[in-house]
Amino acid sequence: MAEDQKVDMDWCFSQPKIELHAHLNGSIRNSTLLELAKVLGENNVIDFADVEDVILKDDRSLVETFKLFDLIHILTTDHATVTRITKEVVEDFASENIVYLELRTTPKKNEAIGMTKRSYMEAVIKGLRAVDSVDVSLVPFDEDSITSLVSPSINCLEKDKRRKIYVRLLLSIDRRETTEAAMETVLLALAMKKMGVVGIDLSGNPIVGEWSSFLPPLTFAKEQGLCITLHCGEVYNPKEVHDMLDFQPQRIGHAICLGDEEWKKLKSYSIPVEICLTSNVRTGCVPFINDHHFVDLYKANHPIVLCTDDTGVFSTSLSREYLLAASTFGLDRAEMVKLAADAIEFVFADDGVKNALRQIFTSAKFGALESSDCVAKTCSSRIHLRLQFMDVNCNEVSALRYLLDRSSDLVGGVFCTVSNRSESCAREFNVKQVDFSSFIP
Ligand SMILES: [Zn+2]
Repeated sequence: MAEDQKVDMDWCFSQPKIELHAHLNGSIRNSTLLELAKVLGENNVIDFADVEDVILKDDRSLVETFKLFDLIHILTTDHATVTRITKEVVEDFASENIVYLELRTTPKKNEAIGMTKRSYMEAVIKGLRAVDSVDVSLVPFDEDSITSLVSPSINCLEKDKRRKIYVRLLLSIDRRETTEAAMETVLLALAMKKMGVVGIDLSGNPIVGEWSSFLPPLTFAKEQGLCITLHCGEVYNPKEVHDMLDFQPQRIGHAICLGDEEWKKLKSYSIPVEICLTSNVRTGCVPFINDHHFVDLYKANHPIVLCTDDTGVFSTSLSREYLLAASTFGLDRAEMVKLAADAIEFVFADDGVKNALRQIFTSAKFGALESSDCVAKTCSSRIHLRLQFMDVNCNEVSALRYLLDRSSDLVGGVFCTVSNRSESCAREFNVKQVDFSSFIP
C-alpha cells in the first residue's frame, strides 16, 4: 500500500463519518458515569468502591461489561440525567467528525418519579436542544433552515465557524417488553416524527422474547412509514433470523450467528448490515477480529456500515472502528472513504439530508473547501478562485451543490464565474429561494 494511502488514527478522525448504530445509554462518558456513581454512592444507593474499577477500566471482560450495563441502568433513571447524557453523547460524536448520527434509545417508564415513555423522550429532545458545541439538525431537510436547533443569538460569522450534525432518533423496543408495550413505543415514535424520530429498533437480550410477539407492532410501524432496524443473529436462532430477514427491515444490526441458508437470504435481500467490530469481539460473539464476517460481506459487495454500538461500554469511537477495519482487513484510504460515503444510502433520513451528506463527503474528498456565505459576502474574489479550483478538480455539479448549499445572496457571484452549462445545473438544484437581486458584483 502506498504511503499516502495508509490509514492512521488522525486520518480516520478527520474524515466525515456516519453513525447508524449507537445506543444512548451505552455511549455515556466514563467521567459522567463516575460522577453519577459517586452521587449514588454518597446516597447509599450503590457501593461506589464496587463499581469504580469497572467504570475506569478500558478493557472490560464480558462479565464486567454486563456489570456496567446494570450500573448504567441504575444511574440513568431521571429526566435531568437523560438530558445531560444525550447532550454529551451528541457532542462527543460531533467532536470526531460524525456528520450524521442515528441515536437509539429505549423509552423508559419510572412511575416513582413520574417518568413516562413520552417524558423520557422529551428529556432526550431537551438534551439535543442543549447541545452548544455544534449545530444540531433534527428536522426534515425542508424545514431545516427554519427550525434547526441553532441558537438564534449566533450571528452569521459565528455560525459559519460551527459544525453541524444531523441527528435522527430511533426508539428501541426492548425484547423483554410485551406486545402492548412495544406498540406503545411505536405510537410514541409516530407522535414524535416531527421531532426527529425516524424509526424503530428491536434490541435487548437476544435470548429473551419471541419474534412473533414483536411482529404486530413492527408491521404497524412499517405500514406507518417508520424505518426498521433489528438486532439480528446475535445468538444462534435460525428460525428467528429467517423470520426477521423475511420481514425485510431497512437494516439489521450485527448479523453474526447466521448459517449458510441465512447468509444466502441476507445477501439475496441485500439488507444493509450495521457492523460493530469491537462490540462483537468484546462480547465474545466473534472470537477473533480476523474472523469477523465483515470480510465476507465486504468482498461480496454487500451493503455494510461501520458503527460503534456502545462507545462508552466498549471504550471505542467510530474513528477507532474505522482504524480497526482498515488495519485488520488491509483497506486503504480510498476504500475507507467509499465505505464511509456508502452509508449515506442507508440512513433513515429524507432525500434532502442525503443530498446534503453527499455534498459534505464530496467536498471532503476534493479538498474540504471552507466556503461560507460570510466570507463570500466580503470577498467575492476568493469565491471566484475557489470555484475555479473546484471546476478544475471535480465536477461542476458537485461544486455547485456545495456552494449553493452555503450561499444565500451571493449566488449571483457564483454565476459570474461559471459557464452556462453550470447555470443549468444550478436550476436543477432548486435555487429558486436565492435572492439574486441582493448580490453586488
Ligand atoms: Zn446494539
